Amino acid sequence: MTRRTTVPAFSDHRRDHGELLYVYPVVSRRAGGLSIGINLNPDKVCNFACAYCQVDHQTPPRTRTVDLDVLESELREVVEQVGSGELWTLPRFASTPEPLRRLNDFAFSGDGEPTTYSGFEEAVERVIRVREEAELVHAKVVLITDAACLHHAHVRRGLSRMDDAMGEIWGKLDVGTAEAYERVNRTLVPFKRVLKNLAEATSVRPIVIQTMMLRINGHPPPPQEVQAYVARLQELEERGALKEIHIYTVARTPMEPWCTPLSDEELDAIVAEVTEGVSAPVRGFYGPPEGAR
Ligand code: SF4
Repeated sequence: MTRRTTVPAFSDHRRDHGELLYVYPVVSRRAGGLSIGINLNPDKVCNFACAYCQVDHQTPPRTRTVDLDVLESELREVVEQVGSGELWTLPRFASTPEPLRRLNDFAFSGDGEPTTYSGFEEAVERVIRVREEAELVHAKVVLITDAACLHHAHVRRGLSRMDDAMGEIWGKLDVGTAEAYERVNRTLVPFKRVLKNLAEATSVRPIVIQTMMLRINGHPPPPQEVQAYVARLQELEERGALKEIHIYTVARTPMEPWCTPLSDEELDAIVAEVTEGVSAPVRGFYGPPEGAR
């Protein structure tokens, strides 16, 4: 069963850290520790327009371009703060419990789709370099992706470098049907393309599937939609092992007000149904407590 974890730092997902433009440390529920986020989309432009998107589109971007030299020096700065323990003295992180004060990963995430950045491969190289220089080879390099661009040559090369460095792909699959995909993910990228890319990625290495399940206009996903989603996961498992499936729900302000969190019971029921249908471990992550919704 999914457990609610109440750690103040979990509710703070600000993608800023002092004056830094691209690098932001967060204590992550799903990572179970510190994740050093790398934002390759500071312009907040994405190839999807997910109805539940929780990127802050109200605050204008501080920059619209990526400068990899600046990014690399920001990475070094944060790594140093972690190494020296200074990070845990900052007000935002001071209440983090001891077991979570471990660096789990470097994660390409942020305010859009990381693989749409043309310098993705070089960005992977820079992260690996900083990680190795700091002797943090236990920390994973994670790509959080909507999977729409995984077939592009420069992205494939970046993924292959990640594979050599404990890389992990967290691929988005929120739905089981093209109709639901149109309603939830709102993109010109065909659903078939995303499924093909996820299948190809799975056939090369085990990937994590990350899924947002939510209420739309007050209604949880209908049973046939959940069944179709499980069928898509089964098709992926025919291509290769899935590492884990993460099912979460709305936890912060979504783009559309008609997107609301599932109740804990609804999430538990979906996690149970998915667990029945697949081989991979399934983890659920609750939304905010009832009173805080
Ligand atoms: S893929 Fe991520 S960043 Fe892009 S719209 Fe969807 S939730 Fe937002």
